[in-house]
Amino acid sequence: MKLAKKIFETALSEGRTFVLEHEAKDIMKAYGIPIPAYATAATADEAVVESANVGYPVVLKILSKDVLHKSDAGGVKLNLKNEDDVRKAFDEIMKNAKKYGEEQGHDVDLSRGVFITEFAEMGTEVIIGVIKDPQFSHAIMFGLGGIFVEVLKDVTFRLIPLTKADAYEMVHEIKAAKILEGVRGQGPRDVDALVEVILAVSKMISENPEINELDCNPVALLEKGKGALVVDARILIEDPNKKGESTH
Ligand code: ADP
Ligand code: MG
Repeated sequence: MKLAKKIFETALSEGRTFVLEHEAKDIMKAYGIPIPAYATAATADEAVVESANVGYPVVLKILSKDVLHKSDAGGVKLNLKNEDDVRKAFDEIMKNAKKYGEEQGHDVDLSRGVFITEFAEMGTEVIIGVIKDPQFSHAIMFGLGGIFVEVLKDVTFRLIPLTKADAYEMVHEIKAAKILEGVRGQGPRDVDALVEVILAVSKMISENPEINELDCNPVALLEKGKGALVVDARILIEDPNKKGESTH
């Protein structure tokens, strides 16, 4: 895909193997992966204009090559309802990111400002990831978000490319799979939509093997018929000068 190659070339020419959130989402969207509406803004004034375009309520996130885990840097502000909220959030994010850089002992480039997106209904948070194993090449990972992955390590893997049957099998073989059938008055989750996202990710990776790592965390998995949305996406690419080395 030309778009992906262009984005990777730009990243490498700027000395980064990290694809910015809007770039990662541009690529994913081109593969038919559902993403909430988004925009970018370098200044608070631009953020106000773009927030109106995206539609309130919105979320602002730090957009910087130097911040991989945005919450850790105080770089995510949720459920902003109006212009005042957006201006305040923009200033706080810039201040927090600067402070984070000082604490970490490295510069944080703030020139790109923020990523703006719709405040999405989260449903059940799930995770889709991709890792590149030097021996087996790319594998896709699936699990439920939060404690399920962090504490219980309840995740499952398949080599890429995978079939639709493989994708359904993955979704049903995690220990907590019952949660997707509906618990505590919640209806069943949209597993068909989730499987479509897994298959689109597999296709994207097959066509762009220079992707070293992909992290869709979280993916919002809604009730049956309401779909799945990739809310956060992180892509790391291979540095052609260090080909063969893994990020792991
Ligand atoms: P990071 O993982 O880099 O800290 P995320 O984009 O995942 O940043 O945001 C942190 C958390 O904020 C997410 O796990 C999710 O719970 C919430 N969040 C992020 N974006 C949205 C959104 N568009 N709508 C609703 N909640 C969101
Ligand atoms: Mg995240």
